[in-house]
Order: sequence, then structure tokens, then C-alpha cells
Amino acid sequence: MKILVINAGSSSLKYQFMESEGGEVFAKGLCERIGIDGRLTHKVPGREDVVREIPMPTHNEAIQSVLDILVDPEKGVIASTDEIAAVGHRVLHGGAAFTESCIIDDACIEAIKKCIPLGPLHNPANLMGIEACQKIMPSTPQVAVFDTAFHMTMPPKAYIYAIPYEYYEKDDVRRYGFHGTSHRYVSARAIDMLGNPAHSRVISCHLGNGSSLAAIVDGKVMDTSMGLGPLAGFPMGTRSGDVDATILEYLMGRYNYDIKEMLNILNKKSGVLGISGVSSDFRDLDAAAAQGNERAQLALDKFIYEVKKFIGAYTTVMGGVDAIVFTAGIGENSIDLRRQICDGLEYMGIKMDAEKNNVRGKEADVSAADSKVKIFVIPTNEELMIAMDTAALCGK
Ligand code: ADP
Repeated sequence: MKILVINAGSSSLKYQFMESEGGEVFAKGLCERIGIDGRLTHKVPGREDVVREIPMPTHNEAIQSVLDILVDPEKGVIASTDEIAAVGHRVLHGGAAFTESCIIDDACIEAIKKCIPLGPLHNPANLMGIEACQKIMPSTPQVAVFDTAFHMTMPPKAYIYAIPYEYYEKDDVRRYGFHGTSHRYVSARAIDMLGNPAHSRVISCHLGNGSSLAAIVDGKVMDTSMGLGPLAGFPMGTRSGDVDATILEYLMGRYNYDIKEMLNILNKKSGVLGISGVSSDFRDLDAAAAQGNERAQLALDKFIYEVKKFIGAYTTVMGGVDAIVFTAGIGENSIDLRRQICDGLEYMGIKMDAEKNNVRGKEADVSAADSKVKIFVIPTNEELMIAMDTAALCGK
């Protein structure tokens, strides 16, 4: 089925028009500066990119511009929007209500709205994308695919926080986890590459701008590093990962920060950017560290150290590990970081083949022949997962 996949942010909207079976991408692109002025970048494989300034006061005009370019006689890829069988939307927070993707109807929209307090930055933007599609293509079925859903198999001991239980019962405070669509895609590929054993234990390392690890037993998430929100876990590009909450009180007292300023520091100014003072981009950090910048090196060391700790913890709670998967920008491309993360884990049966690890952006088994644990590089494909879920729900 031909599916339009939409990932709507507050001022931007990414789209991919693709075949759900096999994953062929016909066109993809980005609407930027929604609510400011508006720019569309449209890419079709084998053709030159199209960039157009188009007024986009709201998400409605952004969606309309996507449909217009898809059917454009010269730049488009279809004759009519009727060829779009369904639309799949990425939605950040599904709370505990959504354990899988669902067809968008009134009840689904209400449930997504209920999750706004849990995903205050993303869910309203996701809803704007959904509402724009409903308005502009009312007869096309729509599906919501949640970043949290795959993690809903976690047992209570993994998702409960050790704070008064009433905050879980009354206020839904618990670990949810994110990047679920990515963890689902790469862990399913890994299990396939393991030969579909009856029992499998996979650690999936999604290392990008935002990063998280997931411990996956028999295809079901047992634990993951992000929490109620995407700030938790290990250091990321600009996010701190887990910090001692005492730090908040201490710094807020010393500098008179309110909670918004404090969270902005933890979300936007921390992580490897905060430690290094150089960049949130690991390529810049590599370059700076190579020139002797000690704080850039410290940021890299900290990142590697914390990822190793999660691998150790997840191996322990799963009673072993059969495969470690690296994915997303860093996981797929940073040969050196993968090597350093696995370095010293030989005693756990994790042994990398340096030569095989010399790979970027494509699926590969990079473990040594005598490694007990498989180490895979698997490019993630969240859009394909969204398209497949959408087709499965709207199918026939
Ligand atoms: P997002 O979380 O926004 O989807 P990506 O998964 O695309 O992000 O990851 C982006 C990050 O990947 C960049 O910030 C950069 O640090 C990292 N990255 C990309 N290519 C390389 C590379 N060759 N070496 C090291 N890091 C890389």
C-alpha cells in the first residue's frame, strides 16, 4: 500500500511517501518555519531536490503543500491524492493507554489529548498534523504510531519510580520510554539475523541526537533508559540523562532559576555539549578531541562509560545477551564509538571484529567469529514501521 508518513513538530513537518511492502520511498521532504513563513524541501530519488517558499501560517497549509507537490505534474510522483491509501502519523506520547498503533478516530484523538501533560512539547504538534490531514483529506484513513507503545511490555519493577505510589496511581508517573518504533524495527531485524531463535535477549542502542537503550527479551521490552520523558538515561547531544535531583534544588537556589530555566539547561545545554562546551555533534567532538581538546574527550569518555553501564545492567537483568544492536546517527556511523563501547566487554562474550566494524550506514554483523554475542549495525527505519503498521490497520 502507498502510505504517507507524517512526523509533525511544532514548526516543522517531515513526510515520506512510500510503499509499505518492501519500503520503496517515492518521495520525502520537510516543511519548515510553519507559523513563521514557510519552506518546503521535496526530494525524489534520482531527481534534483525542490525547494519552495510557500506561506504556511498553520499545519493545514503545510499538509496542503505536501499534497500539491506529490501531485505536481512536473515534480510530483502521483496523478491524484487518491493514490495515497492511508496516512501514518508519528505520535510521541501514548501514555499507558496505547500498547500498539491505532486507527485515528475521535476516541484515539481524545486519548492523545489526555497524554499532552506527559508530552507537552510534542503531542500538541503531532495533533496539529493529524487535524490538518483530517481536514484536508477527510476520506483517507489515518493511523497513529506511538514512540512509547513498544515499551509498554515492561514489568512494573522496571517502570515504577521509587516515589510515593499515589503519583503512579493518580498521576501516571512511571517510566514510559521513547524511540519505541526504532527499537522495535532494529530488534526485530536483529532477531531475524539471529535466525529467529525461540528465546532471545537483545540490547538495542539507539544513539542519535537523542539516545536510548532498550533491553528486549523474546521481542518484548523489559527495560529502557528513557523515563517519563526523553530527558532520562545517559548523556545525549544536549540532554543530561539521569541526574541527581538534588542538583536542581542546589542550582535553582544559587542562580535563582525557575523550573523552566532549569529544565531548559538540562534539555538544551547539557549532555556532551554541556561537558565539552564544543558541540552536540559527535563528529565535532571527535575532531576537537583529536586536536587535544580535553573536555571534548571527557564528553566522549562520559558518553561511552554510561552506555557501557547500561549494557552491563541490561545484560544482568536479562540473564545474558545474545545480540547488541547499534542504530541511529551515531550508532550507524561512528566506527570508533562502537569500538570503544564494546572495548573491554570481551569477558562478557562481546567481541568485535575491527575490520567488519569498518562500516557506515548499512546492515552488518560486526562481531568476531568467536564472539558469543552478536554485534549488529542496523540502520533504523521508523518510517517503514509506521507505514507497515498503517497498512496493516487500514489494509485489505
Ligand atoms: P536524530 O535523533 O535527530 O534522528 P540522528 O539519529 O540523525 O539524530 O543522529 C544525529 C547524530 O549522529 C549527529 O548529531 C552526529 O553526532 C551523529 N553522527 C552522524 N554521523 C556521524 C559520524 N560519521 N560519526 C560520528 N557521529 C555521527
